[in-house]
Amino acid sequence: MKKLQLTLIVLIILLTSALIMAKSRLGKIEPISASHTPSKIESTEHQIPEAVKLALEKAAPTNPTQQLRKFPFPYDAMLAISSDIDLTTLEEFEAYHRFLNTKEVTPAGPGLGLDIGDSAWLYIASDYPEKIDQEGHSIEYSMSFFQGLDPSLKDADKISHYFKVGWIDSLHTFGDFSRNDRRILFTRDLAIAAWKAMNQRGFKPKVWINHGSETNVQNFGAYNPKRPFFNYQAGDDPKSRFYHTDLTLGNGIRYVWNSIGMNQFSYDDPLFPLKLRDGQQVWGFYRYTHEIVKGKYQWTWETHELPHQLTNQRLQQLVQERKYSIVTQHLGKGNEGFPFNPTDIQTLRLLKSYQDEGKILVARTVRLLDYARTWKYVRYAMASVDGKTYINIRAIKDPVLGSTTPSLDEIRGLTFYVDDPDHTRLLLNLTPIPENEIQRNSVDKEGKKSIGVRWFQPDFTDYTKTQRNGV
Ligand SMILES: [Zn+2]
Repeated sequence: MKKLQLTLIVLIILLTSALIMAKSRLGKIEPISASHTPSKIESTEHQIPEAVKLALEKAAPTNPTQQLRKFPFPYDAMLAISSDIDLTTLEEFEAYHRFLNTKEVTPAGPGLGLDIGDSAWLYIASDYPEKIDQEGHSIEYSMSFFQGLDPSLKDADKISHYFKVGWIDSLHTFGDFSRNDRRILFTRDLAIAAWKAMNQRGFKPKVWINHGSETNVQNFGAYNPKRPFFNYQAGDDPKSRFYHTDLTLGNGIRYVWNSIGMNQFSYDDPLFPLKLRDGQQVWGFYRYTHEIVKGKYQWTWETHELPHQLTNQRLQQLVQERKYSIVTQHLGKGNEGFPFNPTDIQTLRLLKSYQDEGKILVARTVRLLDYARTWKYVRYAMASVDGKTYINIRAIKDPVLGSTTPSLDEIRGLTFYVDDPDHTRLLLNLTPIPENEIQRNSVDKEGKKSIGVRWFQPDFTDYTKTQRNGV
Protein backbone atom coordinates (compact mmCIF):
# COMPACT_ATOMS: atom_id res chain seq x y z
CA MET A 1 0.00 0.00 0.00
CA LYS A 2 2.73 2.41 1.06
CA LYS A 3 4.62 1.64 -2.13
CA LEU A 4 1.53 2.44 -4.20
CA GLN A 5 1.08 5.79 -2.43
CA LEU A 6 4.70 6.74 -3.08
CA THR A 7 4.40 5.77 -6.72
CA LEU A 8 1.30 7.95 -7.02
CA ILE A 9 3.06 10.94 -5.46
CA VAL A 10 6.01 10.60 -7.81
CA LEU A 11 3.66 10.26 -10.76
CA ILE A 12 1.80 13.42 -9.77
CA ILE A 13 5.07 15.35 -9.42
CA LEU A 14 6.29 14.12 -12.76
CA LEU A 15 2.99 14.88 -14.51
CA THR A 16 2.76 18.37 -13.04
CA SER A 17 6.30 19.19 -14.04
CA ALA A 18 5.82 17.75 -17.50
CA LEU A 19 2.82 20.08 -17.95
CA ILE A 20 4.81 23.09 -16.73
CA MET A 21 7.71 22.16 -19.00
CA ALA A 22 5.49 21.74 -22.02
CA LYS A 23 4.01 25.18 -21.32
CA SER A 24 7.38 26.88 -20.96
CA ARG A 25 8.71 25.24 -24.09
CA LEU A 26 5.89 26.75 -26.11
CA GLY A 27 6.68 30.14 -24.66
CA LYS A 28 10.31 30.63 -25.69
CA ILE A 29 13.14 29.02 -27.58
CA GLU A 30 16.48 29.01 -25.83
CA PRO A 31 19.64 29.49 -27.86
CA ILE A 32 22.18 26.77 -27.23
CA SER A 33 25.82 26.70 -28.19
CA ALA A 34 28.74 24.39 -27.55
CA SER A 35 30.62 27.14 -25.77
CA HIS A 36 27.67 28.16 -23.67
CA THR A 37 28.62 30.46 -20.86
CA PRO A 38 25.93 31.17 -18.35
CA SER A 39 25.35 34.90 -17.99
CA LYS A 40 24.50 34.49 -14.35
CA ILE A 41 24.26 31.66 -11.96
CA GLU A 42 20.78 31.37 -10.59
CA SER A 43 20.28 31.05 -6.89
CA THR A 44 18.78 27.61 -7.38
CA GLU A 45 22.20 26.42 -8.55
CA HIS A 46 23.29 26.10 -4.98
CA GLN A 47 20.04 25.23 -3.32
CA ILE A 48 18.16 22.29 -4.62
CA PRO A 49 14.47 22.69 -3.77
CA GLU A 50 13.12 20.07 -1.41
CA ALA A 51 10.57 18.95 -4.02
CA VAL A 52 13.41 18.21 -6.42
CA LYS A 53 15.36 16.26 -3.83
CA LEU A 54 12.26 14.31 -2.98
CA ALA A 55 11.52 13.54 -6.61
CA LEU A 56 15.13 12.52 -7.27
CA GLU A 57 15.29 10.35 -4.22
CA LYS A 58 12.08 8.61 -5.21
CA ALA A 59 13.04 8.14 -8.85
CA ALA A 60 14.59 4.79 -9.65
CA PRO A 61 18.29 5.02 -10.51
CA THR A 62 18.75 4.22 -14.11
CA ASN A 63 21.20 4.02 -16.94
CA PRO A 64 19.34 3.91 -20.22
CA THR A 65 22.32 3.90 -22.53
CA GLN A 66 20.36 5.56 -25.30
CA GLN A 67 20.32 8.71 -23.16
CA LEU A 68 24.06 8.71 -22.54
CA ARG A 69 26.15 9.87 -25.47
CA LYS A 70 28.82 7.25 -26.09
CA PHE A 71 31.66 9.80 -25.91
CA PRO A 72 32.02 13.36 -24.66
CA PHE A 73 30.68 15.92 -27.18
CA PRO A 74 31.75 16.40 -29.96
CA TYR A 75 33.87 13.25 -30.17
CA ASP A 76 32.79 9.92 -31.66
CA ALA A 77 35.68 7.78 -30.46
CA MET A 78 38.40 7.60 -27.84
CA LEU A 79 41.98 6.42 -28.24
CA ALA A 80 44.86 5.90 -25.83
CA ILE A 81 48.48 5.11 -26.51
CA SER A 82 49.63 2.69 -23.82
CA SER A 83 53.41 2.64 -23.59
CA ASP A 84 55.61 0.03 -21.92
CA ILE A 85 58.70 1.63 -20.40
CA ASP A 86 61.18 -1.06 -21.49
CA LEU A 87 64.77 0.12 -22.08
CA THR A 88 63.93 3.79 -21.61
CA THR A 89 66.16 6.34 -19.91
CA LEU A 90 64.85 9.38 -18.06
CA GLU A 91 66.36 11.67 -20.71
CA GLU A 92 64.62 9.78 -23.53
CA PHE A 93 61.31 9.84 -21.63
CA GLU A 94 61.54 13.59 -21.12
CA ALA A 95 62.47 14.31 -24.74
CA TYR A 96 59.61 12.37 -26.33
CA HIS A 97 56.97 13.41 -23.81
CA ARG A 98 57.95 17.03 -24.29
CA PHE A 99 57.11 16.50 -27.96
CA LEU A 100 53.93 14.46 -27.35
CA ASN A 101 52.37 16.37 -24.46
CA THR A 102 53.44 20.02 -24.75
CA LYS A 103 53.21 22.66 -27.46
CA GLU A 104 56.80 23.76 -26.95
CA VAL A 105 59.23 24.15 -29.81
CA THR A 106 61.14 20.86 -29.84
CA PRO A 107 63.89 19.49 -32.09
CA ALA A 108 61.14 17.46 -33.83
CA GLY A 109 58.99 20.53 -34.46
CA PRO A 110 56.15 22.02 -32.44
CA GLY A 111 54.89 19.71 -29.72
CA LEU A 112 51.59 17.89 -30.32
CA GLY A 113 49.86 18.72 -27.03
CA LEU A 114 48.20 15.32 -26.76
CA ASP A 115 47.22 13.56 -23.53
CA ILE A 116 49.53 10.56 -23.77
CA GLY A 117 50.61 8.75 -20.62
CA ASP A 118 53.33 6.21 -19.99
CA SER A 119 54.34 3.49 -17.58
CA ALA A 120 57.12 3.18 -15.03
CA TRP A 121 58.83 0.60 -12.93
CA LEU A 122 60.68 0.38 -9.68
CA TYR A 123 63.39 -2.27 -10.10
CA ILE A 124 65.79 -3.17 -12.87
CA ALA A 125 66.86 -6.80 -12.58
CA SER A 126 67.32 -7.56 -16.25
CA ASP A 127 70.54 -8.93 -17.78
CA TYR A 128 69.83 -7.35 -21.17
CA PRO A 129 73.29 -7.19 -22.77
CA GLU A 130 72.89 -4.34 -25.24
CA LYS A 131 73.09 -0.57 -25.01
CA ILE A 132 69.78 1.15 -24.27
CA ASP A 133 70.41 4.66 -25.59
CA GLN A 134 72.42 6.68 -28.05
CA GLU A 135 74.98 7.54 -25.36
CA GLY A 136 75.74 3.85 -24.86
CA HIS A 137 74.25 3.40 -21.41
CA SER A 138 73.52 -0.14 -20.29
CA ILE A 139 70.35 -1.60 -18.75
CA GLU A 140 71.09 -0.37 -15.19
CA TYR A 141 70.61 3.18 -16.47
CA SER A 142 66.92 2.54 -17.31
CA MET A 143 64.42 4.96 -15.76
CA SER A 144 63.47 3.31 -12.48
CA PHE A 145 62.36 4.23 -8.98
CA PHE A 146 65.15 2.28 -7.25
CA GLN A 147 68.74 1.55 -8.20
CA GLY A 148 68.60 -1.96 -9.67
CA LEU A 149 67.32 -4.21 -6.87
CA ASP A 150 68.90 -1.97 -4.28
CA PRO A 151 66.45 0.10 -2.22
CA SER A 152 68.44 3.30 -2.72
CA LEU A 153 66.45 5.72 -4.83
CA LYS A 154 67.29 6.45 -8.46
CA ASP A 155 64.54 8.29 -10.38
CA ALA A 156 61.93 8.17 -7.60
CA ASP A 157 61.42 11.96 -7.48
CA LYS A 158 61.07 12.26 -11.24
CA ILE A 159 58.72 9.28 -11.56
CA SER A 160 56.50 10.60 -8.75
CA HIS A 161 56.53 14.03 -10.39
CA TYR A 162 55.55 12.69 -13.81
CA PHE A 163 52.83 10.56 -12.22
CA LYS A 164 51.32 13.58 -10.46
CA VAL A 165 51.24 15.64 -13.66
CA GLY A 166 49.82 12.79 -15.75
CA TRP A 167 52.72 11.78 -18.00
CA ILE A 168 52.86 8.44 -16.16
CA ASP A 169 49.64 6.60 -15.37
CA SER A 170 50.59 2.92 -15.42
CA LEU A 171 52.84 0.49 -13.58
CA HIS A 172 54.73 -1.84 -15.92
CA THR A 173 54.72 -4.36 -13.08
CA PHE A 174 57.25 -3.73 -10.30
CA GLY A 175 60.17 -3.86 -12.67
CA ASP A 176 62.13 -5.46 -15.45
CA PHE A 177 62.82 -9.02 -14.34
CA SER A 178 63.53 -10.40 -17.81
CA ARG A 179 66.62 -12.63 -17.67
CA ASN A 180 68.46 -14.43 -20.42
CA ASP A 181 70.03 -16.65 -17.75
CA ARG A 182 66.47 -17.54 -16.66
CA ARG A 183 67.07 -16.64 -13.00
CA ILE A 184 64.02 -15.50 -11.09
CA LEU A 185 64.85 -12.45 -9.03
CA PHE A 186 61.39 -11.18 -8.10
CA THR A 187 60.24 -11.66 -4.49
CA ARG A 188 57.19 -10.70 -2.47
CA ASP A 189 59.46 -8.59 -0.26
CA LEU A 190 60.30 -6.45 -3.28
CA ALA A 191 56.56 -5.91 -3.84
CA ILE A 192 56.08 -4.92 -0.18
CA ALA A 193 58.95 -2.43 -0.37
CA ALA A 194 57.64 -1.12 -3.70
CA TRP A 195 54.15 -0.31 -2.43
CA LYS A 196 55.58 1.22 0.74
CA ALA A 197 57.78 3.57 -1.28
CA MET A 198 55.01 4.36 -3.77
CA ASN A 199 52.60 5.22 -0.96
CA GLN A 200 55.16 7.47 0.71
CA ARG A 201 55.51 9.49 -2.48
CA GLY A 202 51.92 9.45 -3.67
CA PHE A 203 52.77 7.37 -6.73
CA LYS A 204 49.52 5.38 -6.96
CA PRO A 205 48.82 4.22 -10.51
CA LYS A 206 45.50 2.47 -11.19
CA VAL A 207 46.72 0.68 -14.32
CA TRP A 208 48.91 -2.42 -14.25
CA ILE A 209 50.61 -3.68 -17.40
CA ASN A 210 52.36 -7.05 -17.34
CA HIS A 211 55.86 -7.23 -18.72
CA GLY A 212 58.03 -9.60 -20.60
CA SER A 213 59.25 -13.11 -20.40
CA GLU A 214 58.67 -16.09 -18.11
CA THR A 215 61.13 -14.89 -15.48
CA ASN A 216 58.62 -12.10 -14.79
CA VAL A 217 56.72 -14.24 -12.30
CA GLN A 218 55.13 -11.09 -10.85
CA ASN A 219 52.82 -11.04 -13.89
CA PHE A 220 49.23 -12.13 -13.38
CA GLY A 221 45.82 -12.44 -14.98
CA ALA A 222 46.38 -14.91 -17.81
CA TYR A 223 46.91 -18.14 -15.85
CA ASN A 224 44.77 -20.85 -17.39
CA PRO A 225 45.47 -24.59 -17.57
CA LYS A 226 44.36 -24.39 -21.21
CA ARG A 227 47.00 -21.76 -21.95
CA PRO A 228 50.15 -23.39 -20.56
CA PHE A 229 52.35 -20.64 -21.97
CA PHE A 230 51.07 -18.24 -19.30
CA ASN A 231 51.39 -20.62 -16.37
CA TYR A 232 54.62 -18.97 -15.22
CA GLN A 233 52.43 -16.08 -13.96
CA ALA A 234 52.40 -16.30 -10.17
CA GLY A 235 51.47 -12.82 -8.93
CA ASP A 236 47.90 -13.85 -8.06
CA ASP A 237 48.63 -17.33 -6.72
CA PRO A 238 48.23 -17.23 -2.92
CA LYS A 239 50.22 -20.44 -2.64
CA SER A 240 53.22 -18.94 -4.42
CA ARG A 241 56.08 -17.08 -2.76
CA PHE A 242 55.68 -14.54 -5.59
CA TYR A 243 52.10 -13.72 -4.59
CA HIS A 244 51.34 -9.99 -4.38
CA THR A 245 47.84 -9.22 -5.73
CA ASP A 246 46.50 -8.83 -2.18
CA LEU A 247 48.80 -5.79 -1.88
CA THR A 248 48.53 -4.71 -5.47
CA LEU A 249 44.75 -4.56 -5.67
CA GLY A 250 44.61 -3.32 -2.09
CA ASN A 251 46.75 -0.36 -3.10
CA GLY A 252 44.43 0.71 -5.88
CA ILE A 253 45.20 -1.18 -9.10
CA ARG A 254 41.90 -1.26 -11.00
CA TYR A 255 42.83 -2.17 -14.55
CA VAL A 256 45.13 -4.97 -15.67
CA TRP A 257 46.66 -5.91 -19.00
CA ASN A 258 47.20 -9.62 -18.52
CA SER A 259 49.81 -10.19 -21.29
CA ILE A 260 47.31 -11.41 -23.86
CA GLY A 261 47.88 -9.28 -26.93
CA MET A 262 45.19 -8.51 -29.49
CA ASN A 263 45.21 -7.97 -33.21
CA GLN A 264 41.79 -6.34 -32.93
CA PHE A 265 42.19 -2.56 -33.10
CA SER A 266 38.96 -1.29 -31.59
CA TYR A 267 36.32 -2.25 -29.05
CA ASP A 268 32.82 -1.24 -28.04
CA ASP A 269 33.94 -1.77 -24.48
CA PRO A 270 37.65 -2.06 -23.65
CA LEU A 271 37.05 -3.70 -20.25
CA PHE A 272 36.37 -7.28 -19.20
CA PRO A 273 36.15 -8.81 -15.72
CA LEU A 274 39.22 -10.75 -14.68
CA LYS A 275 38.98 -13.33 -11.94
CA LEU A 276 42.24 -13.93 -10.12
CA ARG A 277 43.44 -17.12 -8.50
CA ASP A 278 43.18 -15.58 -5.03
CA GLY A 279 39.45 -15.07 -5.58
CA GLN A 280 39.68 -11.32 -6.18
CA GLN A 281 38.24 -9.63 -9.23
CA VAL A 282 39.74 -6.77 -11.18
CA TRP A 283 39.15 -5.22 -14.60
CA GLY A 284 41.14 -6.56 -17.51
CA PHE A 285 41.51 -4.41 -20.61
CA TYR A 286 42.26 -5.06 -24.27
CA ARG A 287 45.30 -3.64 -25.97
CA TYR A 288 45.99 -3.75 -29.67
CA THR A 289 49.50 -5.22 -29.95
CA HIS A 290 50.02 -7.04 -33.25
CA GLU A 291 48.89 -8.14 -36.65
CA ILE A 292 48.62 -11.70 -37.81
CA VAL A 293 50.36 -12.15 -41.13
CA LYS A 294 50.19 -15.56 -42.78
CA GLY A 295 49.28 -17.13 -39.47
CA LYS A 296 52.19 -15.50 -37.65
CA TYR A 297 52.24 -12.76 -35.02
CA GLN A 298 53.74 -9.51 -36.20
CA TRP A 299 54.16 -7.22 -33.20
CA THR A 300 53.44 -3.58 -34.06
CA TRP A 301 54.30 -2.04 -30.70
CA GLU A 302 57.44 -0.21 -31.82
CA THR A 303 57.53 3.49 -32.70
CA HIS A 304 58.44 2.91 -36.35
CA GLU A 305 55.29 0.77 -36.66
CA LEU A 306 53.10 3.76 -35.77
CA PRO A 307 52.21 4.34 -39.45
CA HIS A 308 50.93 0.75 -39.59
CA GLN A 309 49.09 1.03 -36.31
CA LEU A 310 47.36 4.33 -36.93
CA THR A 311 46.28 4.37 -40.55
CA ASN A 312 43.80 6.94 -41.77
CA GLN A 313 41.40 4.15 -42.67
CA ARG A 314 41.50 2.72 -39.16
CA LEU A 315 40.98 6.09 -37.53
CA GLN A 316 38.06 6.79 -39.85
CA GLN A 317 36.51 3.47 -39.01
CA LEU A 318 37.00 4.05 -35.29
CA VAL A 319 34.95 7.24 -35.63
CA GLN A 320 32.27 5.65 -37.78
CA GLU A 321 31.86 2.73 -35.41
CA ARG A 322 32.14 4.87 -32.27
CA LYS A 323 34.62 2.70 -30.47
CA TYR A 324 37.57 2.70 -28.12
CA SER A 325 41.12 1.82 -29.05
CA ILE A 326 44.12 1.26 -26.80
CA VAL A 327 47.23 1.14 -28.91
CA THR A 328 50.29 -0.50 -27.38
CA GLN A 329 53.70 1.08 -27.82
CA HIS A 330 57.25 1.00 -26.51
CA LEU A 331 57.90 4.69 -26.94
CA GLY A 332 61.36 4.72 -25.36
CA LYS A 333 62.66 1.31 -26.34
CA GLY A 334 64.96 2.29 -29.22
CA ASN A 335 68.57 3.31 -28.73
CA GLU A 336 68.95 5.75 -31.61
CA GLY A 337 67.92 8.92 -29.81
CA PHE A 338 64.56 10.56 -30.50
CA PRO A 339 62.15 7.68 -31.17
CA PHE A 340 60.07 9.10 -34.03
CA ASN A 341 61.18 9.46 -37.65
CA PRO A 342 59.41 11.90 -40.02
CA THR A 343 56.83 9.26 -41.05
CA ASP A 344 56.05 8.43 -37.41
CA ILE A 345 55.62 12.14 -36.71
CA GLN A 346 53.30 12.49 -39.70
CA THR A 347 51.19 9.67 -38.25
CA LEU A 348 51.06 11.32 -34.83
CA ARG A 349 50.03 14.60 -36.48
CA LEU A 350 47.30 12.72 -38.33
CA LEU A 351 46.02 11.43 -34.99
CA LYS A 352 46.13 14.96 -33.62
CA SER A 353 44.10 16.22 -36.59
CA TYR A 354 41.35 13.74 -35.67
CA GLN A 355 41.23 15.27 -32.22
CA ASP A 356 41.38 18.84 -33.55
CA GLU A 357 38.41 18.07 -35.79
CA GLY A 358 36.39 16.82 -32.83
CA LYS A 359 36.36 13.20 -33.96
CA ILE A 360 38.72 11.23 -31.70
CA LEU A 361 39.47 12.19 -28.13
CA VAL A 362 43.04 11.16 -27.33
CA ALA A 363 43.25 10.33 -23.64
CA ARG A 364 45.79 8.72 -21.37
CA THR A 365 44.97 5.07 -20.67
CA VAL A 366 43.64 5.54 -17.14
CA ARG A 367 41.25 8.27 -18.26
CA LEU A 368 39.93 6.18 -21.13
CA LEU A 369 39.37 3.20 -18.84
CA ASP A 370 37.79 5.26 -16.07
CA TYR A 371 35.47 6.83 -18.62
CA ALA A 372 34.48 3.46 -20.10
CA ARG A 373 33.74 2.11 -16.62
CA THR A 374 31.71 5.15 -15.61
CA TRP A 375 29.75 5.22 -18.87
CA LYS A 376 28.71 1.63 -18.48
CA TYR A 377 27.94 1.51 -14.78
CA VAL A 378 26.82 5.01 -13.79
CA ARG A 379 23.45 5.18 -12.08
CA TYR A 380 21.47 8.38 -12.05
CA ALA A 381 17.99 9.60 -11.37
CA MET A 382 16.00 12.18 -13.30
CA ALA A 383 13.15 14.40 -12.25
CA SER A 384 11.43 17.42 -13.74
CA VAL A 385 10.22 20.15 -11.44
CA ASP A 386 9.08 23.68 -12.32
CA GLY A 387 10.19 23.48 -15.91
CA LYS A 388 13.66 22.21 -15.12
CA THR A 389 15.08 18.76 -15.58
CA TYR A 390 17.40 17.54 -12.86
CA ILE A 391 19.82 14.69 -13.39
CA ASN A 392 21.38 13.40 -10.19
CA ILE A 393 24.41 11.16 -10.67
CA ARG A 394 24.24 8.78 -7.76
CA ALA A 395 26.71 5.98 -8.08
CA ILE A 396 28.98 3.85 -10.19
CA LYS A 397 27.54 0.43 -9.70
CA ASP A 398 30.64 -1.46 -10.68
CA PRO A 399 30.04 -5.23 -10.62
CA VAL A 400 33.78 -5.91 -10.28
CA LEU A 401 35.11 -3.25 -7.91
CA GLY A 402 31.91 -2.51 -6.02
CA SER A 403 29.48 0.38 -5.88
CA THR A 404 30.81 3.85 -5.03
CA THR A 405 29.80 7.48 -5.18
CA PRO A 406 32.05 8.88 -7.90
CA SER A 407 34.33 11.90 -7.65
CA LEU A 408 33.93 14.75 -10.14
CA ASP A 409 36.97 13.50 -12.07
CA GLU A 410 35.37 10.07 -12.36
CA ILE A 411 32.33 11.47 -14.15
CA ARG A 412 34.19 13.82 -16.48
CA GLY A 413 32.96 13.61 -20.04
CA LEU A 414 29.65 11.98 -19.14
CA THR A 415 27.12 13.47 -21.57
CA PHE A 416 23.33 13.18 -21.42
CA TYR A 417 21.01 13.68 -24.36
CA VAL A 418 18.28 16.06 -23.24
CA ASP A 419 15.66 18.11 -25.08
CA ASP A 420 16.59 21.36 -23.42
CA PRO A 421 20.14 21.58 -22.06
CA ASP A 422 19.59 25.17 -20.86
CA HIS A 423 16.87 24.01 -18.52
CA THR A 424 18.75 20.99 -17.27
CA ARG A 425 20.81 20.83 -14.09
CA LEU A 426 23.41 18.18 -13.30
CA LEU A 427 23.92 17.06 -9.73
CA LEU A 428 26.41 14.73 -8.15
CA ASN A 429 24.94 13.00 -5.13
CA LEU A 430 22.33 15.79 -4.81
CA THR A 431 24.94 18.56 -4.94
CA PRO A 432 24.82 20.79 -8.01
CA ILE A 433 27.88 20.42 -10.22
CA PRO A 434 29.40 23.91 -10.62
CA GLU A 435 28.38 25.67 -13.84
CA ASN A 436 32.01 26.03 -14.97
CA GLU A 437 32.26 22.22 -15.00
CA ILE A 438 29.17 21.86 -17.19
CA GLN A 439 29.11 21.82 -20.98
CA ARG A 440 25.89 22.46 -22.88
CA ASN A 441 25.95 21.24 -26.44
CA SER A 442 24.05 22.05 -29.59
CA VAL A 443 22.88 19.24 -31.84
CA ASP A 444 25.39 16.58 -32.85
CA LYS A 445 25.35 14.42 -35.98
CA GLU A 446 22.39 12.56 -34.52
CA GLY A 447 20.49 15.85 -34.33
CA LYS A 448 20.37 15.61 -30.54
CA LYS A 449 21.25 18.25 -27.95
CA SER A 450 23.11 17.30 -24.83
CA ILE A 451 24.53 18.39 -21.50
CA GLY A 452 27.65 16.96 -19.94
CA VAL A 453 30.34 17.22 -17.32
CA ARG A 454 33.39 18.85 -18.88
CA TRP A 455 36.30 16.63 -19.87
CA PHE A 456 39.71 17.36 -18.31
CA GLN A 457 41.18 20.71 -19.38
CA PRO A 458 43.97 20.28 -21.92
CA ASP A 459 47.36 20.68 -20.24
CA PHE A 460 50.35 21.58 -22.39
CA THR A 461 52.68 22.48 -19.52
CA ASP A 462 56.30 21.55 -20.08
CA TYR A 463 56.66 19.47 -16.93
CA THR A 464 60.34 18.79 -17.63
CA LYS A 465 60.85 22.32 -16.29
CA THR A 466 58.44 22.45 -13.38
CA GLN A 467 59.80 19.98 -10.88
CA ARG A 468 60.68 21.48 -7.53
CA ASN A 469 62.55 19.72 -4.77
CA GLY A 470 61.03 16.35 -4.23
CA VAL A 471 57.66 17.16 -5.84
ZN1 LIG B 1 57.69 -4.55 -21.12
